[in-house]
Amino acid sequence: MKTRLHLLLLLLFSTTLITAQQPKKPTASEIHESIKKLNFLGSVLYVAAHPDDENTRLISYMSNEIKARTAYLSLTRGDGGQNLVGPEIRELLGVIRTQELLAARRTDGGEQKFTRANDFGYSKHPDETLAIWNKDEVLSDVVLAIRQFQPDVIINRFDHRSPGSTHGHHTSSAMLSVEAFDLVGDKNAYPNQLSSVDIWQPQRLFFNTSWWFYGSQEKFDAADKSNLLDIDTGVYFPSSGLSNPEIAALSRSQHKSQGFGSTGSRGSQLEYIEIIKGDLPTEKTNIFDGIDTSWNRVEGGKAIGEILDAVQNNYDFKNPSASIPELMRAYIAIQNLKNEHWKIIKTNEIKDIIAACAGLYLEATANTNHATAGSNVDLNLEVINRSNSKIVLSSIVNPNGIKIDKNITLVNNTSFDFKETLAIKTNQQVSTPYWLTKKGTLGMYKVEDKSLIGKPETPRDLNITFNLNIENVNIPFTKAIVYKTNDPVKGEVYKPFEIIPEVSAKISEKVIILDTDQQRDIEVIVKAGRDNIEGYVQIAHPKNWSVFPEKQKVIIENKGQEQRLIFTVIPPKEQSEGLLTPMVHIGDKVYTKELIEIDYDHIPFQTVLLPSESKIVRLDIKKQGQNIGYIEGAGDVVPESLRQIGYNVAILKPEDISAENLERFDAIVVGIRAYNTIEELKFKQQLLFDYVAQGGNMIVQYNTNRRLKVDQIAPYDLKLSRDRVTDEFAEVRLLATNHEVLNFPNKITSKDFEGWTQERGLYFPNEWSSEFTSILSMNDEGETPKAGSLLVARHGKGYYVYTGLSFFREFPVGVSGAYRLFANMLSLGKNDMNQSEQIKN
Ligand SMILES: [Zn+2]
Repeated sequence: MKTRLHLLLLLLFSTTLITAQQPKKPTASEIHESIKKLNFLGSVLYVAAHPDDENTRLISYMSNEIKARTAYLSLTRGDGGQNLVGPEIRELLGVIRTQELLAARRTDGGEQKFTRANDFGYSKHPDETLAIWNKDEVLSDVVLAIRQFQPDVIINRFDHRSPGSTHGHHTSSAMLSVEAFDLVGDKNAYPNQLSSVDIWQPQRLFFNTSWWFYGSQEKFDAADKSNLLDIDTGVYFPSSGLSNPEIAALSRSQHKSQGFGSTGSRGSQLEYIEIIKGDLPTEKTNIFDGIDTSWNRVEGGKAIGEILDAVQNNYDFKNPSASIPELMRAYIAIQNLKNEHWKIIKTNEIKDIIAACAGLYLEATANTNHATAGSNVDLNLEVINRSNSKIVLSSIVNPNGIKIDKNITLVNNTSFDFKETLAIKTNQQVSTPYWLTKKGTLGMYKVEDKSLIGKPETPRDLNITFNLNIENVNIPFTKAIVYKTNDPVKGEVYKPFEIIPEVSAKISEKVIILDTDQQRDIEVIVKAGRDNIEGYVQIAHPKNWSVFPEKQKVIIENKGQEQRLIFTVIPPKEQSEGLLTPMVHIGDKVYTKELIEIDYDHIPFQTVLLPSESKIVRLDIKKQGQNIGYIEGAGDVVPESLRQIGYNVAILKPEDISAENLERFDAIVVGIRAYNTIEELKFKQQLLFDYVAQGGNMIVQYNTNRRLKVDQIAPYDLKLSRDRVTDEFAEVRLLATNHEVLNFPNKITSKDFEGWTQERGLYFPNEWSSEFTSILSMNDEGETPKAGSLLVARHGKGYYVYTGLSFFREFPVGVSGAYRLFANMLSLGKNDMNQSEQIKN
């Protein structure tokens, strides 16, 4: 949901958890809480569209107070959001936000699920959303998630009855959840799923409402609440010393890329949920009212419940290991359950509890955080029992299935370390997020292995199994191999252990724009995944382009080292665009992937392999004027993009804005949301308008109408609105066909609006004074034409331009028409100056 973003939140960064990979080391109190959870057999699934939509107060309350299995199903991974912590956007941002959700769930005790739907950007209406997503596939994934998780209760974040009132993804998430509720119990719905899951019918479906959905607190106070449950989620947990809202705030603060740092509160806090399907509970604070959430719901469970009740009641906070004999009895009984669903869940839970009660520490670390298929890696295994329980390490099984017998009695508080060498299989898969291995569509990820659908991340298959015998019962414990090191500043640092290809390569620039037919040198960076790499590099390129030399040798001695190679690209005479891909030949193998590493403190280290591609564009573009002053706003790459096409761009800090300084520039461009973010600009507006009046050219990109720091954004009346055109294919009508901005120096036609990405533009003005000329008209389907996307006014001897067109999105992906139109905006007023300029030169 919409929240203000504050860059200041980044300052909090350094004080948060150091690493997300450290193994859990539960306290005696935490173990007791886990035993209570082991004794509860109810499940609740929360459903919304994006990472950060979820209500962490409710999720934490369900998980920590009620002890229910609680999952959040986020339909997307949030690729379309912004990134406040670094440069990653799109699929890489989706990787970060996936991990932020997992970090949030580690904090609030929930689980995390996804569908294959892609967050393709803002959508006004669910009709549009469901047309771009493959509705049937997303519905199928929601049905699958419910059949896998088997929730008794589903809670939607959004209202399925109010299309158009919020992001189309939001309403769609609720609509699909409601539709799925009626399908999951029907064996004729998505029958192909039934080879891996059973049908399942949740009892109730709720909508997690609040005053926000009613428009105001007053309206909500006055509303009929007979269909609403109210739950006090402000409970306090003495076991952790935290209130539920404090845990929820810690969880929400994991959404750092979105700037959603949150401060906890204490004291009573009501959440409202409205019954949508199923019967209204009689006890109106309990979503599970009338649902058996005890062990009695499972055949053979009654006896287990009795044992665990006693374990819970007799638990010795000073000696948790005293519970082990009874826990072992429960473990054996759980192994005999016929209900596979609960057997798997409760087996995992009780194993963790037994290990924690015994103070068991089992770890497998590698001496590197990545290796290649076919290589050998040194492992260190640490095994220790810190209880008087009778525990024997029978054997260890490595990832290749090789069993190494140990038969060692684990004496209380005596550590055993083993060195092993792991020969990684030659056909071992490389590590990368499974949803990015095949190219999907705008609205959907492509997942070929159906067993992976819904999983938050690629399951780890490089694991060590420790076969233990505890009190004469064999229990296997499986641990993923990790990398552990000591950082002089951070201390103990963990990273996942990953498999990478023997080489990866990238071109240093992602978009290369040539505004003439002159050749250009490009740099290819090849990185070795192992020692002693030898081969050659070629560049795949569009047919009408040439690249020299045809191939270059690559020799790299050490793993992790890079070699840089320069190739020369020769563009065609005419406008043209395409992709360049470095191809590294090693032996008979060809590598075409780029290795991207994402390293932030709040999430585990991420290794991502993507197709190595750079877009190359030969622009047919003419320009007038050379020197541009750029006033930065919330941050965009427009300055670099303008430099790429040959402009001299100087960044102007607010304190640099003076009459003398402005005079040097052919045009001043104001970055996105500058008037929302830069307080000092209110003292500089008049200087800028004076500069325009004296013959200057000023271009202002989009701002939002809320929290404007200036009274006058333009020298004439101009009112910003929330009008936006989100369909990047929406027809663009040229209104002022004879206007200079559409004719000089480049002739702009409808062709220049082809190939745009994500959207046309946003926050267009909807009222303006007669001095402005409206240049373009466009609209999303079913809406009235919007004529405020590009407005040009003469002011004195110069020009003022206001535009909500999304140049900041189009430039980074090399959209030719966007460059041509922007060049015309920068050239305004320079048509008749042509001659005198040439004389000067
Ligand atoms: Zn959202």
